[in-house]
Amino acid sequence: MKYKVDVCIVGAGPGGALLGYLLAKKNVSVMLLEQHQAIGKAFRGEHLNEEGEAILKKYGLFEDVEQAGLLRMEKLEYWHAGKPFKTILPDSKVGHLGIHVPQVHLLTVLLQAAQKYPSFTSMMNTKVVELIKEESGSYCGVKALTDKQEILIECGIIIGADGRYSTVRKKAEIDVTIRKHGFDLLWARIPAPDDWEPSIRMALIGDKQLSLFTQAMGFIQIGWNIEEGSFPKLRKQPFTPFIEQLIEAFPQLEKSVRQHIQSWRDFVLLDVYSSTSESWGRDGVALIGDAVHTMTPTGAFGLNSSLKDADCLAALIDKDYIKQLDLMDCATKRKKEIEKLQAIQVEKEQTFASQFVVFA
Ligand SMILES: Cc1cc2nc3c(=O)[nH]c(=O)nc-3n(C[C@H](O)[C@H](O)[C@H](O)COP(=O)(O)OP(=O)(O)OC[C@H]3O[C@@H](n4cnc5c(N)ncnc54)[C@H](O)[C@@H]3O)c2cc1C
Repeated sequence: MKYKVDVCIVGAGPGGALLGYLLAKKNVSVMLLEQHQAIGKAFRGEHLNEEGEAILKKYGLFEDVEQAGLLRMEKLEYWHAGKPFKTILPDSKVGHLGIHVPQVHLLTVLLQAAQKYPSFTSMMNTKVVELIKEESGSYCGVKALTDKQEILIECGIIIGADGRYSTVRKKAEIDVTIRKHGFDLLWARIPAPDDWEPSIRMALIGDKQLSLFTQAMGFIQIGWNIEEGSFPKLRKQPFTPFIEQLIEAFPQLEKSVRQHIQSWRDFVLLDVYSSTSESWGRDGVALIGDAVHTMTPTGAFGLNSSLKDADCLAALIDKDYIKQLDLMDCATKRKKEIEKLQAIQVEKEQTFASQFVVFA
């Protein structure tokens, strides 16, 4: 099967889905390809900051997301010995310290908005495996597998919005520099107790950060930093003393934790790293989001950065000048901001323990 479109976007995460909508709205013909059968995989970034919120509001999408369900964080608390000792409240102009938006709500709204335009097509369960090159050396399409069947998409430009392990970046041989941050992350999700307030709560366990993020629909996401590469060894140790530290830090969670985190298998491990690429595209390929700048979960910047990349790139793509897309403006502006955010992430990670220095 063969298709022909102006733009082929690989990856229906937040960046790819928003870009698909913005281009379809401009009457650019778009094919959005996603390897998973369903959108909204668990354990992806789900906290929107005010910048991501502003983009959704700019395009009249926020109301629909709000209707689907979201939760504003009302405070950030630092806890020690089972009690909060420092509370940060939101700037009154912003009104929250982040908004939890279940990924499936955000992506459903973006894709439904895009589907209203006849220039938009999407294919789920479709994994891009190759890029196609013209004789001139320019990329002009992708090869993908859907139900083991090969399809070809011919296009003016390929957008790699395919996340941290980007196939598009690899196949286009775009450079990447990986930075390790000295820690990995264990994630788990538990039901929140009835009297749990919408908040972000932090504690220090040993010298490692433990974070709780309240989620819409009555859940708490737990992010627990552990020494980089230590999980194989850790999971050979008895589980009870480990999980007791969480209960000691947040006693209100005892019942839910005991019920829902009973072994190492109830945690998901995230290999934490960040990445940068000197080049944001080449010869008919452009990259956005985690594909070109993987972020660590610190500070909840990644999802918001992908939305900003999509917004920036959509403004540059013109149906009549697809092949002349000049990435420089967008890449230069966005790259500076990403460098700043990645530096903030490192600083936050390195200074986290200093919040607790009074208890040392
Ligand atoms: C545990 C965790 C917590 C985080 N918390 C936050 C947070 O609270 N706030 C925040 O802003 N950021 C957070 N982040 C970061 C955030 O999740 C990412 O930065 C963001 O999802 C990047 O969006 P994206 O659209 O660029 O890529 P992704 O969300 O990774 O989407 C890429 C999509 O491409 C698809 N794909 C990949 N390869 C192919 C292929 N070959 N063919 C077809 N499809 C393909 C994938 O299936 C995926 O759907 C967190 C990250 C993690 C891992």
